[in-house]
Amino acid sequence: MPVVDALRARLGPDRVLVAEAARGPHRDSWVMSILEEVHGAAPSLPACVVRPQTTAEVVEVVKACGAHGAPLVPFGLGSGVCGGIRPSAESVVLDLGGLHRVRTIDVANLTATFEAGMRGSEAEAAVNRAGLTIGHFPQSHEVSSVGGWVATRSSGQLSNRYGNIEDLILGLEVVLPSGEVLTTPVTPRASIGPSLVELFLGSEGTLGVITAVVLSLHRAPERREVTAWYARDFEAGVEAVRAIHQAGWSPAVSRLLDPGDARRLLPTHARGGQSLLLFVHEGPARLVEVELEACSTLARGAGCEPAPAEATSTWLEHRNQVPSFPELIRQGIVFDTIDLSSTWDKVVPLYRAFLASVGSQAHLLLASAHVSHAYRSGANLYLTFALRPPEPSAMREAYWGCWREVMARTLEVGGCISHHHGIGRVRLGWMEAQLGTAGVGVLRNLKTSLDPQWIMNPGVVVQRG
Ligand SMILES: Cc1cc2nc3c(=O)[nH]c(=O)nc-3n(C[C@H](O)[C@H](O)[C@H](O)COP(=O)(O)OP(=O)(O)OC[C@H]3O[C@@H](n4cnc5c(N)ncnc54)[C@H](O)[C@@H]3O)c2cc1C
Repeated sequence: MPVVDALRARLGPDRVLVAEAARGPHRDSWVMSILEEVHGAAPSLPACVVRPQTTAEVVEVVKACGAHGAPLVPFGLGSGVCGGIRPSAESVVLDLGGLHRVRTIDVANLTATFEAGMRGSEAEAAVNRAGLTIGHFPQSHEVSSVGGWVATRSSGQLSNRYGNIEDLILGLEVVLPSGEVLTTPVTPRASIGPSLVELFLGSEGTLGVITAVVLSLHRAPERREVTAWYARDFEAGVEAVRAIHQAGWSPAVSRLLDPGDARRLLPTHARGGQSLLLFVHEGPARLVEVELEACSTLARGAGCEPAPAEATSTWLEHRNQVPSFPELIRQGIVFDTIDLSSTWDKVVPLYRAFLASVGSQAHLLLASAHVSHAYRSGANLYLTFALRPPEPSAMREAYWGCWREVMARTLEVGGCISHHHGIGRVRLGWMEAQLGTAGVGVLRNLKTSLDPQWIMNPGVVVQRG
């Protein structure tokens, strides 16, 4: 293919991988892609995978793809769960794994600059050595990249204290579809027109290639304490979390597991039909002391009863263990998670709508939920479902049946269709209902203006129309 020859000429043959084994693993972790693979569908392989080592080499890749009109699909570490990476046969996958260095750690300003392909857990380890923390701990911490965090607008499990990725980011280096390199100023805040950093948060590879990210850091916490509580039901637990966050407290974790999630994730500590509320307090020692006391008082005031603190320690220890999707699919089980968000008044209605709709699907094994990111004006709702249809051929339709129900009920109730996983391909069909024709029109015009050929990860976030 001419684009492959052009890439070889620009980068040298060792940066351009064409062997089938090298092209194969470059998709994300969307259940539908895994299901197709397990069911024996031929994987969709790109024309080649390029592994640049520098921003200048990324520029060469973007220019070569532009000259040949070849779709270009950025790949961080492939932990995305929305189908954001499904390269077509004529596309080029840009694997950011060669950009994996720490550029700077500035202890005085509490900033660090990471190349975009750096593994999240390695970035955290690097700043830990200086007594600092990024504070961004998605469950996929060890299998996601810093650039991927930005590209998907991700959230960490301790976001209540440290913020989501948009609260941590100070600056970006992006290779635009034109081949120009955009470097945003590094400053704690700016009033210089609309934020160019925001433009790329959640862009999922459609507007440019993020090559470096400047994050604001925190000093490592002095102290950590944990508590756990039983709430008589999910509604009472939501009230407790709301009361705490609206009173101005920000426990690093305030995680409310409904009875189903409590039984599945912490069976030793689950109690009947009650919900389980887990708190992690961390930061300066005196703050932790006061916050723990205040949150405990507010939890009691909302009718919660103390549960063994060990429930929270156990969750902390095992929080990143997840079932193997291929293994579940081989057992005939379709399993997925859906992250939503809403203002406080809609959290419980969304939860009830989920239980009523997905909970009544045929061949259901599991429908459960938790709240894990709380704000003054609302929270997320994280849903899990599993079904086992009688025939493997029915798994796909069963999967989409649940998604259609959740998306439709969310929009009906007035919630938001994603809190942190993003759009990819799985939510594409609901973008217009969520944003309106005007909103999707803005995204489409933005895309056309930055990427007139629509070569940057086409088919994701917004359709050409
Ligand atoms: C077990 C598990 C747990 C998870 N837990 C969480 C969680 O707690 N919080 C959370 O927010 N998410 C979570 N996720 C989702 C996923 O880990 C995040 O979306 C993560 O940010 C993706 O990073 P990545 O490097 O793997 O990106 P990839 O999967 O490689 O890419 C994701 C998207 O971003 C684009 N992209 C990647 N890198 C770049 C770049 N440098 N420039 C431009 N575009 C780029 C890709 O084209 C793609 O569209 C989880 C996923 C799994 C499998």
